[in-house]
Amino acid sequence: MAAKLKSVGVSLVVAVALLFLQTSTVLAAEGSGNKYDSFIQKLLQAGLQSNTAHLLLSELVVRAPHRLSGSSDAQKAVALTARMMDSLGFQEVHAESVRVPHWVRGKHESAVIVQGGKDRERPVAICALGGSVATPEKGITAEVIEVRSFDELARMKDAAKGKIVFFNRPMDPTRLHTFEAYGGAVDQRVEGAVKAADAGGVASLVRSMTLAHDRVPHTGVMSYRDSVVKIPAAAISTNDADTLSRLLKRNPHLKVRLVLEGRTMPDAPSANVAGQITGVEMPDEVVVVGGHLDCWDKGQGVHDDASGCMQAIEALRLLKELGVKPRRTIRAVMFMNEENGNRGGKGYAIAPQRSREHHVAALESDRGGFSPLGLAVQGDSTLVAYVQRWLPFFAQLGTGRIEKGSGGVDISPIVATGVPGFGLIVDDFRYFDYHHSDNDTLDKVHPRELEMGAIVEALLCYLIAEEGLPPNTVHETSDQ
Ligand SMILES: [Zn+2]
Repeated sequence: MAAKLKSVGVSLVVAVALLFLQTSTVLAAEGSGNKYDSFIQKLLQAGLQSNTAHLLLSELVVRAPHRLSGSSDAQKAVALTARMMDSLGFQEVHAESVRVPHWVRGKHESAVIVQGGKDRERPVAICALGGSVATPEKGITAEVIEVRSFDELARMKDAAKGKIVFFNRPMDPTRLHTFEAYGGAVDQRVEGAVKAADAGGVASLVRSMTLAHDRVPHTGVMSYRDSVVKIPAAAISTNDADTLSRLLKRNPHLKVRLVLEGRTMPDAPSANVAGQITGVEMPDEVVVVGGHLDCWDKGQGVHDDASGCMQAIEALRLLKELGVKPRRTIRAVMFMNEENGNRGGKGYAIAPQRSREHHVAALESDRGGFSPLGLAVQGDSTLVAYVQRWLPFFAQLGTGRIEKGSGGVDISPIVATGVPGFGLIVDDFRYFDYHHSDNDTLDKVHPRELEMGAIVEALLCYLIAEEGLPPNTVHETSDQ
């Protein structure tokens, strides 16, 4: 392991040195032709030649794989990304402090289906949802009641009393857009424990939020309400959810024994990390591009969202490699705590430094490091139409979609102040196969796909830094 870490570090240093050698003033040498068309080709070549985004990504996720807010890996990631931006020659590299929730998963968590004697126990793959309280040490053993919706649970009246409530409505596979399928099922994960406790349940078990059929449980945020008793909540893998459902039809009185150890600690100190290319004409006008540095404590949080962070850094690195001196400032921000609080996004929007700046746009990549398909524009129709004039530029990168949509959770607080928001639209068919689970590892990211996202971000940042944007009259959030 140590040897591997060293080789990643060395290869990064070599790559960075090479890239600085290549640094040239490509743009300065441009003639009077269409500077953007030729710039786009140079940007594309520079990115695909180096695939540096993937090199940066491996550096981050190998050294700091479990970056849950408040954890030591999250702190490591703060220091590491600051060093990364420093070594790439970014300006004004700094951390902005935020306090974050600090939940810790227990070492032991398990669930078994109990039918008859001990020899009839059948293990199922589960993991605690983020924020869940623990079970008693010996676990909770109870009958299970399966429901597909909160309405169904409410209709059952007292039937859930003393039982484990099993929410088993799958993500809808007929939805073309997987985020819509997720949106149609995730209420069970977020609110399941409250609804189950309200109905007299002793624990909540939710089918994992994925369209994949496997034995890997997917965690994610859940919430409690002060007025309702806090019961333990876990996700169960989709294959085990199907098995449990089948066995319940045969034996409605079977039991599940659930053991969870998670606990919530006091809030912890942490930080967003920022670095920039300062604008030469309007340094206080800022285009921000970012992702979230924290992730769940499963897998390596690669698609969610180390990819978005490293794409932001790579976008700026590419612009520097091409010798860009933007009119406005282009800033990369690694936001902390998107997964269970969005304290980083909220903190960034109200940090004292913001009062001296004017944000022109905020761009986020948080839908996985897959092939980019286009841009979602969060703003009014004038803004969307203005950006759509750039379609021919983005079409050269294979990203022919510019449409109204959501930017992302991290940038939602600053977008709510009227700043135009942008989200990278990607081919997200496989995103939820990996999301919040042990499946979200480095091998799931393709270097060229990841790099293309960084290239698209670099182009958008550059266009906005040069051209500006019309004022946005729609102030809305995409906080989820
Ligand atoms: Zn994310």
